[in-house]
Amino acid sequence: MTTPTVALPVMGRDTPFLVRRIWCVGANYSAHVREMGRDPNAAPPFFFSKPFDALVVEGGEVPYPPVTSELHHEVELVVAIGRDGREIEPTDALDHVFGYAVGLDLTRRDVQRRAKQQGRPWALSKGFDHSAPCSAIALASDVGHPAAGGIALEVNGQLRQQGDIADMTWSVAEVLSHLSRQVCLRAGDLVFTGTPAGVGPLLPGDEVDAWVEGIARLQVTVTARGP
Ligand code: MN
Repeated sequence: MTTPTVALPVMGRDTPFLVRRIWCVGANYSAHVREMGRDPNAAPPFFFSKPFDALVVEGGEVPYPPVTSELHHEVELVVAIGRDGREIEPTDALDHVFGYAVGLDLTRRDVQRRAKQQGRPWALSKGFDHSAPCSAIALASDVGHPAAGGIALEVNGQLRQQGDIADMTWSVAEVLSHLSRQVCLRAGDLVFTGTPAGVGPLLPGDEVDAWVEGIARLQVTVTARGP
């Protein structure tokens, strides 16, 4: 038996990025929270995970998953960790970033809704097979550490999600600092940093085009539900 590995290509390099874990941040775009006059920083960020082999490397075909009739798209900036660390201060956090990508946090929304109602884990609403399409990684040494920039997603040429990573409630540095107080961050970890407004359903045959300006683009085709 061989050790399973999943690797993401790195733009401009021959050596790929070996993926260790996938962490995801919940609700992290809060223009709406702010406009309602509440403090979006009142509660710390919360996290969930996906299996690393849920990755769909550089997009392509994603089969419509079983046990859902409400598969949702969530376009997200993805952070690739290049250096281990625990209890990282926000001012040091970006030193741990290897690069950035664009990914989809695909979600069985109906399953997630039932889990919330019943107080059960989100695991299988978020961490199913093929639930994490992700682009190649742009090196931070090439693209810097973007604090602003457009993030968007189209389905069949129609704009569904549009936001700016400047609108994240918790910045990349703050996300990594919080996460590193709960687990040791490791080189090879990916962190999906939350999605802007406009999430919605996908159907078999849909063509998805997602991007973060100046970072990467990702294209996915949803194929028929498997047998
Ligand atoms: Mn998400």
